[in-house]
Amino acid sequence: MELKFLGRGGAFLVEEGNTSAFFIEGKTLFLIDCGESVFSKIVRVNLLKKNQINKVFCLITHMHSDHTGSLSSLIYYCAYADINNPINFSIVCAKPLMDDLYRMLEAQGCADFFDFVPAETLSNRYRSFSKIQLIRTAHQGQYPAFCVEFTTNDGKVFYSGDTRDLELIHSYVREVPDIERMYLETTLLDYSGNAHLSLRVLNEIIPNNLRPKVFLMHFDSADCIKKAEELGFQVVECIQ
Ligand SMILES: [Zn+2]
Ligand SMILES: [Zn+2]
Repeated sequence: MELKFLGRGGAFLVEEGNTSAFFIEGKTLFLIDCGESVFSKIVRVNLLKKNQINKVFCLITHMHSDHTGSLSSLIYYCAYADINNPINFSIVCAKPLMDDLYRMLEAQGCADFFDFVPAETLSNRYRSFSKIQLIRTAHQGQYPAFCVEFTTNDGKVFYSGDTRDLELIHSYVREVPDIERMYLETTLLDYSGNAHLSLRVLNEIIPNNLRPKVFLMHFDSADCIKKAEELGFQVVECIQ
């Protein structure tokens, strides 16, 4: 399973857009995160109409606005852009995010235009994956954040979301035998208390032979993209 990207920047790298991935199966769009720039990119590339999308599953990894900032606009758009053919919208997230997400979207007036779908109800319904698992991770303070793991016919596809949990990444690399792809966030920032994965440490814990399968994203700078490539990692490219 190959993810496509609408943006690959961190919260402040506005020229790269907020990191958000997607894939399409039939007329169903699976979207991961919907930060501030994501709705406008979806409209600009005509992603929904071009692919005759009639169903959206939006996976949310955590509440930061570079991951949820245009979610309500997308939900409204799906409900109203073509009033005769509304696009059915479901949010897939872990339980600890549900109340906060609901309150945010209710305050923004779109509580009637989506539902929550537990990840496990998507098992064995699609060709692209057989299972989606949301894995709790550490990102900023104690606030809940989640990685996403897809089980596919070709192996596991791991998407880190935002995380600072280097041990989780390290153990995943050591213990999961059938990694098809890993999508990992990274930053050049490197200090104790970092909320993100330092590229320096990823360089220490990701073996060279795995790097053709390791795609980096959520960059903090153009320099970070360049250094990631120099170290033999893949860097995600965005659709235009
Ligand atoms: Zn982020
Ligand atoms: Zn974040």
